[in-house]
Amino acid sequence: LFFYIPSFFSQKYPPVKFLSEKDRKRILITGGAGFVGSHLTDKLMMDGHEVTVVDNFFTGRKRNVEHWIGHENFELINHDVVEPLYIEVDQIYHLASPASPPNYMYNPIKTLKTNTIGTLNMLGLAKRVGARLLLASTSEVYGDPEVHPQNEEYWGHVNPIGPRACYDEGKRVAETMCYAYMKQEGVEVRVARIFNTFGSRMHMNDGRVVSNFILQALQGEPLTVYGTGSQTRAFQYVSLVLLSAGLMEVNDVLQGNPEEHTILEFARLIKSLVVSQSQIQFLSEAQDDPQRRRPDIRKARMMLGWEPVVPLEEGLNKTIQYFSRELEHQANNQYI
Ligand code: NAD
Ligand code: UDP
Ligand code: UDP
Repeated sequence: LFFYIPSFFSQKYPPVKFLSEKDRKRILITGGAGFVGSHLTDKLMMDGHEVTVVDNFFTGRKRNVEHWIGHENFELINHDVVEPLYIEVDQIYHLASPASPPNYMYNPIKTLKTNTIGTLNMLGLAKRVGARLLLASTSEVYGDPEVHPQNEEYWGHVNPIGPRACYDEGKRVAETMCYAYMKQEGVEVRVARIFNTFGSRMHMNDGRVVSNFILQALQGEPLTVYGTGSQTRAFQYVSLVLLSAGLMEVNDVLQGNPEEHTILEFARLIKSLVVSQSQIQFLSEAQDDPQRRRPDIRKARMMLGWEPVVPLEEGLNKTIQYFSRELEHQANNQYI
């Protein structure tokens, strides 16, 4: 016996635009179950494309994309990009890599393999199927920069044997591979150098400054500032994924978020947004910690008309709400 269920009763997915077959692309997102990747998945799914997420769940989780599971345009594959991958796609957003210092330092050799062999495999795939590939690179390619602010022409200042090298040099060689495949094999590549990004679905315990400070402020623990707190970063809410999606259409290396703060200012800002009684505690400084970091975004403005859309405080408030809900969720589920 069959019942006809009208779609407005059965609708359980976020709204998806209809795209004709000629406009609909088959898109691979590696690392799509992670923080940035899952937001990109949402954007491209809602735009009406077919999205395949490939992830080994090292730092990502199914929960980040579970709202798409079962949708006819969506596929989730448990796969490690260090192994070759044979599928048919039109575009590749290559994000697979641990991103926070504690995560990428946890197994430096695996971080190197993911960024080198993993990227080589995705470029080999792009070459075979004629797909365009966007690499999620990082401001870490600039190391501890001697030029400020950093524009896309700067070559960087990285310690090749320091504790951050597995990630920094891994991403640098990943960029090199992209351009070698472009020059030698005609693969169309784009590189997005992402600066410090935060927002919902970032891991609460990944040890990054945003997650640490918010968690500490919510739990009334001291906010741990490494060193004097005079080092700076430029933070950007995760709506930055829109920049990556836009970049897929233009041929270049680009970067986004321009709002620079010292870490101490940032600690005070989070304390006041959470309305927290926490103290600020100074710990010893991290080795090879970049001292100043802010992108020069003139090129992104010029080529894409890019402007960061969500102001810092608004983005932080959203993230604080997300973390509060996660803490509640954890408290309610601790006996399951
Ligand atoms: P994340 O850890 O949330 O996401 C990375 C994803 O890649 C995870 O889902 C993880 O399971 C997956 N992954 C890792 N190794 C893999 C492998 N070998 N095979 C398959 N999947 C693998 O981190 P994120 O913050 O979302 O970062 C995404 C990308 O953006 C990374 O490439 C990162 O280097 C880059 N990036 C992020 C930031 C930031 O501030 N978040 C800044 C600069 C660059
Ligand atoms: N590769 C892949 N999927 C493909 C095509 C290639 O994973 O669809 C991998 C392949 O295993 C190889 C890498 O990408 O190790 C680079 O491929 P390329 O064709 O450039 O090099 P070759 O196979 O000639 O060494
Ligand atoms: N940091 C800090 N306290 C923390 C975590 C980080 O003072 O609990 C500092 C860290 O030393 C660095 C900055 O905050 O100067 C940003 O660190 P994060 O790990 O978030 O990112 P990255 O160093 O990769 O930019």
